[in-house]
Amino acid sequence: MNDIKKWIAEANKIVIFTGAGISTESGIPDFRSPGGIWTKMQPIMFQDFLSSEASQIESWKRKFVIDKDMKVAKPNIGHIAIAKLYSKNKISYILTQNIDNLHHDSGIPDNKIIELHGNSTYAKCLNCNKRYELNYIKEFLEKKDNNYSTAPKCIECNGIIKSATISFGQPMPIKEMQIAEKASIECDLFIAIGSSLKVYPAAGLPILAKKNGAKLIIINREATELDSISDKVLNKEIGVTLDKLFY
Ligand code: NAD
Repeated sequence: MNDIKKWIAEANKIVIFTGAGISTESGIPDFRSPGGIWTKMQPIMFQDFLSSEASQIESWKRKFVIDKDMKVAKPNIGHIAIAKLYSKNKISYILTQNIDNLHHDSGIPDNKIIELHGNSTYAKCLNCNKRYELNYIKEFLEKKDNNYSTAPKCIECNGIIKSATISFGQPMPIKEMQIAEKASIECDLFIAIGSSLKVYPAAGLPILAKKNGAKLIIINREATELDSISDKVLNKEIGVTLDKLFY
């Protein structure tokens, strides 16, 4: 802990990279832990979502189940500790795999949070990008004469509507990846928090930072794919650890 505190004190351009693990203490399950979402269901691939209305309907059903946890979730001490470090002008960017909006809710400005896998609090037409609120989608699916038999289509162009997240098989957002790669190349310290570091291309960012001279710290309760290249690994609970490190 003392070495890490020293590195944080010396650094000026810290990149914070977060995965689902930072939000489990807010009551949102991660994907790969025991009891995580993928121990219960397989992910729906983007190609399947595009080609099958049944997959679209199944995806909306899952979305509204997960939403019960997400809607009531609040930033926890881990998110708040990151916001505290941000207020000390230490952080260049938060790169997040999360889709839960909790870094925004902790008070960090939108332009400093790069959402690599999108945001699940709204939906978009895949063809014309028109934004849809989730209430609209839920009402459409649940109305009496539909009852989850047809998926919603865009009222402007009849395109497929999807939650504004990036699914497996879906292209990564170009602008976000460019900012994330630049930030990773330019940072002096890269701290990966609560990610199994298994999902690429996002998990390539700590590697990029390390190759370009940054120190790499990994904070996760269990081993990750990139422990062997990191300068320090803390196998600890996130909230209490960040609270100690960042204040
Ligand atoms: P993951 O589920 O693969 O890994 C999470 C890691 O965090 C695990 O290794 C787990 O051991 C660790 N962890 C969980 N709670 C912890 C705690 N309190 N303290 C310390 N470690 C803890 O998640 P991922 O790597 O982010 O990848 C899964 C994908 O799923 C992401 O791309 C993301 O888009 C999506 N996802 C997002 C959310 C969210 O927005 N909150 C939730 C689930 C999944």
